[in-house]
Amino acid sequence: MVVKFTSNIRQTRLKPMVHISTIFQDFVSLFFPPYCMGCSGHLVKGEEILCTRCLAELPKTHYHHRFENPVINRLAGRLPIRHGWAFLKFQKGGIVQHLLHQLKYNNCPEIGERLGKAYGRELRETSVASEFDLIVPVPLHRSRQRQRGYNQSAHFAKGLSESLQVPWDESISIRTQATASQTRKTRADRWENVRHVFAVETAIPVQGKRILLVDDVITTGATLEASGRHLLDCGCASVSVACIAEAQ
Ligand SMILES: [Zn+2]
Repeated sequence: MVVKFTSNIRQTRLKPMVHISTIFQDFVSLFFPPYCMGCSGHLVKGEEILCTRCLAELPKTHYHHRFENPVINRLAGRLPIRHGWAFLKFQKGGIVQHLLHQLKYNNCPEIGERLGKAYGRELRETSVASEFDLIVPVPLHRSRQRQRGYNQSAHFAKGLSESLQVPWDESISIRTQATASQTRKTRADRWENVRHVFAVETAIPVQGKRILLVDDVITTGATLEASGRHLLDCGCASVSVACIAEAQ
């Protein structure tokens, strides 16, 4: 009897709140309809950040189905990784460039989370999801993060974490120096630029952990190499890498 009584109380108290919240959301979207960050078309109920068509047409790499792939090859001999993946192919002028630009420069962190959720769902279809203990985003220097307001890779990590049901932590790895942009640098210069800039507050949270290190774009892999090596030096069991996109 007691259980039934408690259950009734919950229903009568919670149901109207959920109902009101839905009505409020519907009311808001009547005047401010949410639009797709990919094509600017209106989103329908159930769609979030990206419309179904944009999500379906994203240029995916499907690297997680391949034993060998360009991300693994790019880091071969430089960083011993367990898995190496990129969700999307970066094409100049394409939707991925547009989404990454919005994510990094136009105050749209929710794009990172949405892509992380979508990618996590795909990874979950394989057996790899159970192979990680912790998701760690490549950190930004605090001056860059203050300027942007957030770390875009941390939002990708958050989305992956939700789908994979693996905890994430953006406070573990830190960047001790603000480095110049890597965009116009050669591979050797990029490595010199980042090789000594990563640190951890304390090695304890990473020791023995199978870490999934995530970043927005992999170009030469210098940033992932430096950040990953540092985590291995701190005693983690293994490092895997997942990026939103792979630059050609
Ligand atoms: Zn769209």
